[in-house]
Amino acid sequence: MLENFERASILVLGSGTSVGVPMIGCRCKVCTSSDSRDKRLRPSILLRFGDQRLLIDTTPDFRYQALRFKIDRLDAILFTHSHADHILGLDDVRPFNFMQKTDIPIYASADALVTIRRTFQYVFDDSPSESSRPRLTPNVFDATPITVAGLDIQPIRVAHGRGIAHGFRFGDCAYLTDHSDIPSASMDRLTGLDVLFLDALRHNPHPTHSTVEESLRTVELLKPKRAFFTHISHDLLHSALAARLPENVQIAYDGLEIPVGRLGA
Ligand SMILES: [Zn+2]
Ligand SMILES: [Zn+2]
Ligand SMILES: [Zn+2]
Repeated sequence: MLENFERASILVLGSGTSVGVPMIGCRCKVCTSSDSRDKRLRPSILLRFGDQRLLIDTTPDFRYQALRFKIDRLDAILFTHSHADHILGLDDVRPFNFMQKTDIPIYASADALVTIRRTFQYVFDDSPSESSRPRLTPNVFDATPITVAGLDIQPIRVAHGRGIAHGFRFGDCAYLTDHSDIPSASMDRLTGLDVLFLDALRHNPHPTHSTVEESLRTVELLKPKRAFFTHISHDLLHSALAARLPENVQIAYDGLEIPVGRLGA
């Protein structure tokens, strides 16, 4: 079983903020940049280990992300929270149900699952239908570790404005997207990391997101070997920001693949 966790990697499916970059109708220098790293789909990653594929969030771009990155199976989906930019692609998991002929387990906090059920009422409606619906097995997590496809995952609670979101730690890697603050109990769970993803929306303060400067301070406190910023808005030009970041901090971009060695114990 353990060898399943070797040669693991994280694939960035999307690194953009909720409206994506470019933003519809915007002619700013980032939205019109020819650098492919400035083209950001909505935020999501795919965790690959052995033949397992774990998806974090189903963005409105999920169909395109799955085609673009040739995702050919899905073993489970983890949700960070229930904002539209993280859940609205859920209907597009149907082809994986068709191919795999199984339900797909999904994992969310109790609150997020309530919103997912309300938003996708038809998915969880058991009455007969002539149309296909995603076939999902819902699972709720709280603060205790969960085991998904054989991998131990620690949910990490973070503040997202007045709301709550979750990041996830797996082995020496952690993925934290939308957060404005990381409570100290969660910071304690983020020590000794190889890879740490953090929200870094822009430079100017925002009520629900961390800025580049705030996330740089988090990196200084937690000292991961490698940090990656995500959920990036059109305020940040990849090449200009990359040149100013410390050596252990990178800006994530769509298609970035990060080998993480071995996951798990
Ligand atoms: Zn978001
Ligand atoms: Zn723009
Ligand atoms: Zn959000």
